[in-house]
Amino acid sequence: MTLITPFLKRTRIAYFSMEIAIHPDIPTCAGGLGVLAGDTARSCADLELPVVFVSLVSRAGYFRQRIGADGRQVEEPDTWDPAAWCTPMDAMIAVRIEQRMVWIRPWLYVHSSDHGHMIPVLLLDTDLPQNAPEDRTLTHFLYGGDDAYRLKQEIVLGIGGARVLRALGFALETHHLNEGHAALLLLELLGRSYDKGNGKPQYDTAYVRSCCVFTTHTPVESGHDHFSYELFQHMLPDFIPLDMLKQYAGHECLNMTRRALNLAGFVNGVARRHAETTAHLFPGYPIHAITNGVHPQTWVHSAFAELYSRNFPHWRHEPERLVRALRLPEDDVWRCHEAAKQHLIDEIERRIGNTLSRSVPIIGFARRMTGYKRPTLLFQDLARLAAIAEKRPFQIVIAGKAHPRDAEGKSAIEAIHAIARELEGKVMCVFLPNYDMRIAQALVGGCDIWLNTPLPPFEASGTSGMKAALNGVLNLSILDGWWVEACIEGVTGWGIDDAGDDEQAHVRALYAKLGEVVLPLYYGEPGQWRRMMKQSIAHIASYFNSQRMMRRYASEAYLR
Ligand SMILES: *Cc1c(COP(=O)(O)O)cnc(C)c1O
Repeated sequence: MTLITPFLKRTRIAYFSMEIAIHPDIPTCAGGLGVLAGDTARSCADLELPVVFVSLVSRAGYFRQRIGADGRQVEEPDTWDPAAWCTPMDAMIAVRIEQRMVWIRPWLYVHSSDHGHMIPVLLLDTDLPQNAPEDRTLTHFLYGGDDAYRLKQEIVLGIGGARVLRALGFALETHHLNEGHAALLLLELLGRSYDKGNGKPQYDTAYVRSCCVFTTHTPVESGHDHFSYELFQHMLPDFIPLDMLKQYAGHECLNMTRRALNLAGFVNGVARRHAETTAHLFPGYPIHAITNGVHPQTWVHSAFAELYSRNFPHWRHEPERLVRALRLPEDDVWRCHEAAKQHLIDEIERRIGNTLSRSVPIIGFARRMTGYKRPTLLFQDLARLAAIAEKRPFQIVIAGKAHPRDAEGKSAIEAIHAIARELEGKVMCVFLPNYDMRIAQALVGGCDIWLNTPLPPFEASGTSGMKAALNGVLNLSILDGWWVEACIEGVTGWGIDDAGDDEQAHVRALYAKLGEVVLPLYYGEPGQWRRMMKQSIAHIASYFNSQRMMRRYASEAYLR
């Protein structure tokens, strides 16, 4: 009996994700997609759902972000040692890529819930002596390299992942693709259905549909993974007849999303608005909506966790119980918030030396630094911003990484540093380098206001605002993604009017809401502010959590 044996019999579902935030010290995560995969795994363990997770080992992580003297992002490898956290499995399989055998070996990481239920996470690794030097680095850099490197990674995840599961002895009923990166798995499964008479592949699409679930995350066509057929044929020349592939994946190029839409029996978007946008983009496909959620235990500050446990004993397993948060004593809620805020202030001081004030509200903005998230929207009119702060002071904390090849995101980071210097003496504005799970935990607990200013409809869901609400932090956000479902104006937080595509209109609406509604309430009506904190917990945390999300995946997607 090996370490994997106890999981083999009881596991029926495999969840594939290019990234997974399975532990704060394991850097196999770039952003929201990986955090979602991690929260999914944690909820599966809590709810004892029979799921195995498959991802890449990403030995060099995403990257470690440093900020140079000029405010420029510097990227360094974020190397970790799988042997310190995982056990190497003795199963090894190969995929023929570019006419070479690429060997893949999984590491087993075991995640354990609070009550001891364990969930297996397999991290695929090609850094093996059997492989050619160039293939050994295939699972080093998360989202690194060019198109060819990325396609090879997707081959390792989708095709390699399916073969590894089979070699280990898993008998699976369902495969769940977290975004299209693992969509080659669908072809692997297609090729597995053989005609018993002549032994030729049967390409039984009904079978593949019956056992595959696809969650899409990108609301625009250009955001979906795609590759040229030339590149694909070069990598996997005899994998599947080209005309058949084109039938599923589009005629011009290999569109991973289109293929997943054609071959998965259940497809969903990650919020209601996102499902509608996706249905519009790909007419003719039924797109379900299962709105994302966050893992309560992971994202709650310890002070609030204690308060909730005292008042709602089973809230971790059943966060719906937070629906009665209105009965929490306001003084207790505020005391917990002060503890979380102090923790954030200490963390900022420890990391970058700046000292924020306890008595001035903190506006938090942390997410991937990329165009559609508009990280500089708040700073479009510095004179106006300073005037608002002069009347009612506030402080700003920002964090986020830009993908190494995202020039726009990187220049936003530089711009924010220049702006922070310009605002010196008027508005305290700090940037926390190397946004990761730990920084996220400190921020979503300790801010007063959580800001989000994406360009609609690009924010598929967004989850950091859900983490904030769980800690009584109030959301101020453009009405996109999840916030369309969660915002009750003046009750759970505030929407920023996003009428039209005019960016300047969004800026004006943001300043108006901040200067005329949010800050006056904070300073003028502390009792009402605290009531809103409780309303935000009651209406948002009770619903936008990953326990509810996984119960829905289980009943609607897995038990079809
Ligand atoms: C929650 C989280 C995200 C996703 O936040 P969004 O609001 O969806 O942008 C990204 N990175 C980290 C480290 C997180 O914890």
